[in-house]
Amino acid sequence: MDPADSAYFPSHECGVFAVYGHPNAAELTYYGLYALQHRGQESAGIVSAPGNSLPFEVHRGMGLVSQVFPEAEIKRLTGTRAIGHVRYSTTGSSNIKNAQPITVTCSKGQLAIAHNGNLVNAGILREELEAQGSIFQTTTDSEIIVHLMAKLGPAGGGPAAREQSIIETLGRIQGAFSLVVMGESEIIGARDAFGFRPLCIGKLDGAYVLSSETCALDLIHAEFVRDVEPGEIVVIDEQGLRSLKPYVPKPRQALCVFEFVYFARPDSTLSGHGVSQARIRMGQALARLHPVEADLVVPIPDSGNYAALGYAEESGIPYGQAFVRNHYIGRTFLQPSQLTRSFGVRVKLNLIKAAVKGKRVIVVDDSIVRGTTARARVVNLREAGAKEVHIRISCPPHRHPCHYGIDFPDPADLIANQMDAEAIKKYLGADSLGYLDTASMVRACGLPEDRFCLACFNGDYPVEVKDEADKLRLERHATTGAGPLLDEADVWQEHLI
Ligand code: 5GP
Ligand code: MG
Repeated sequence: MDPADSAYFPSHECGVFAVYGHPNAAELTYYGLYALQHRGQESAGIVSAPGNSLPFEVHRGMGLVSQVFPEAEIKRLTGTRAIGHVRYSTTGSSNIKNAQPITVTCSKGQLAIAHNGNLVNAGILREELEAQGSIFQTTTDSEIIVHLMAKLGPAGGGPAAREQSIIETLGRIQGAFSLVVMGESEIIGARDAFGFRPLCIGKLDGAYVLSSETCALDLIHAEFVRDVEPGEIVVIDEQGLRSLKPYVPKPRQALCVFEFVYFARPDSTLSGHGVSQARIRMGQALARLHPVEADLVVPIPDSGNYAALGYAEESGIPYGQAFVRNHYIGRTFLQPSQLTRSFGVRVKLNLIKAAVKGKRVIVVDDSIVRGTTARARVVNLREAGAKEVHIRISCPPHRHPCHYGIDFPDPADLIANQMDAEAIKKYLGADSLGYLDTASMVRACGLPEDRFCLACFNGDYPVEVKDEADKLRLERHATTGAGPLLDEADVWQEHLI
């Protein structure tokens, strides 16, 4: 496999979940994944441990959690420990082989792993491991973690060897990872030193739960205990939960601010701050920063809902739902033919024409990536007879790609990388366009700036990109310049919530 191939390591944002010490571990994991479905709709999987030294039970499949797990499959996954994963990827490798959790049997015993985030030195590590004889089953960076775990640390299949091997493994991998690992007798959770991706701890009837987001704890009535800290490893076994912090803490943290802006579910809490409230505050700040006289504030559902509420509240302009969302769109629209190009954006939302006719409308969305969504909405509004269309975006312009797990395309596909605000406004056909600024966005989240990764906005990457694959990709784009902005636009599939 050519490491220069951009599909070498499909970038992905995902959801992970784990249960230790509950008779219905797999069923709880199923519900946990259900609540994390917005983090990935491509594939889902659960691995359970029916008993110490019995073979793990595995079920993985392509599609939504509800499609992948018929009731019989959940019943087949027995035992008091389980881990699960939902995967999101748009880089082509829509492949059952890349579905997680990944399972292996090695000198450390059986291991299962579910990973959220992107490693930035995956190519280098994979080449090194392959040179030493490792044989890879998938094209995901996550598999590197299991291969390292198999190799590193003292020989033997006991818990102490596994603990040591995960410590050494985390010392080798760089980039973003929130992961859950199941060994022969324990569950381990770990978060990279910068804390790019969320991971939290919950408790339910004496059982421990790990989850990407707190909304999944709510669903199963688990009590939120705390976040796994950046750089922390938690080992959950017969003795309870132990926290290991084997490495020197980083001077800064780098929670992905886009989790607050778009990715996390509004009913989740990140680092102690409610996501929906943060989005409302972003909308309020946006109204202060970019006021305009208008008759109506309209969200682009669902991603713009809370920011639009905040904007309306702060400006005193009435809030109205004018776009109606079809909630039953699956991933099937991801392969549009020429004929159905731009069909994706229309099938998702329909406009109530009477609500906007003759009105000056402020349209609020969370972000503009390629510009496809906003442009299509302006066309809808004009066709419906809106007098003016003002676009307000609750984060700054996206100018830089993400290397840590959010699927932002290459710079050539990011409209703000190619055009200035005035040109974007023209391209979108809007009367005005206003983005939130970085300082207000950060303030709305309630944490200091040095707690966040803001790389997609300001190009300041907390972890250097080590991979030749990524470097080559960046270099290629630097020399070829702008790509066709609307190419692949239709494959942007809105999340299902
Ligand atoms: P655009 O149409 O400008 O390319 O994308 C903007 C829209 O995509 C916004 O409505 C935003 O909510 C959504 N969006 C932003 N980031 C992501 C992402 O990582 N994945 C998906 N599926 N949608 C996104
Ligand atoms: Mg959206």
